[in-house]
Amino acid sequence: MARLVRVARSSSLFGFGNRFYPTSAEASHASSPSPFLHGGGASRVAPKDRNVQWVFLGCPGVGKGTYASRLSTLLGVPHIATGDLVREELASSGPLSQKLSEIVNQGKLVSDEIIVDLLSKRLEAGEARGESGFILDGFPRTMRQAEILGDVTDIDLVVNLKLPEEVLVDKCLGRRTCSQCGKGFNVAHINLKGENGRPGISMDPLLPPHQCMSKLVTRADDTEEVVKARLRIYNETSQPLEEYYRTKGKLMEFDLPGGIPESWPRLLEALRLDDYEEKQSVAA
Ligand code: ADP
Repeated sequence: MARLVRVARSSSLFGFGNRFYPTSAEASHASSPSPFLHGGGASRVAPKDRNVQWVFLGCPGVGKGTYASRLSTLLGVPHIATGDLVREELASSGPLSQKLSEIVNQGKLVSDEIIVDLLSKRLEAGEARGESGFILDGFPRTMRQAEILGDVTDIDLVVNLKLPEEVLVDKCLGRRTCSQCGKGFNVAHINLKGENGRPGISMDPLLPPHQCMSKLVTRADDTEEVVKARLRIYNETSQPLEEYYRTKGKLMEFDLPGGIPESWPRLLEALRLDDYEEKQSVAA
């Protein structure tokens, strides 16, 4: 724990006393200022000049990685996924890897101590490269982790992505990664009918290009049994974080309306970034 605290204290990543954003509760209402407006909403400030400090919450399979990674590219801040850090450690066959693989392959959570250590090393390496700001994906996942994070920095916004539970297992089972280029895809066809006032939801598969087709791999923990265990653990251990951040006025709830083509523009709208994306694509 000491390392995260030490790194965070010395790191511009956590931007002490450098709070730019209104709370997400404000940001989530169309009539309220955008997270990129300040000074009474008088002017938009380029996010690249600022220290975005966001967290993505959501069940396994909801798409945290997909949307956090897109936003990271758009805003020019690092996307730090603790699941990726765990998988890198597993692949390194270092001293921790045997212990980690047993935990991860049962769908259980790695200890707070190990995860904080992996995250702090990642932050340290980023700091050395001059990174600033972050979009955290998969951290915090326990109340203890949220408290540690809260002790060392001020999170601006917590985005809670939501999908009906029935969809999540299919989405996890459909996940594929290209072992060569590292891009993620999804071969699942989702078509959930609406009922009891809940809208239906359909998502087309996100298929890989021809050159990735023969190199696709599936995560060892994306089996039906392990996904169900992860969902259960999420509901028990991580869902209380929603209330924690809601009470702090930082939570922005976002019900995904479908796949990326429907959800991405709506998410940008909710974050008041739709304008920003248009300007970026014109400038590109
Ligand atoms: P998911 O699809 O379940 O959101 P992730 O890629 O975020 O998966 O994480 C994969 C695994 O890595 C988790 O099941 C857990 O074992 C471990 N892990 C990732 N982040 C954390 C964390 N913050 N705390 C504890 N364990 C974690």
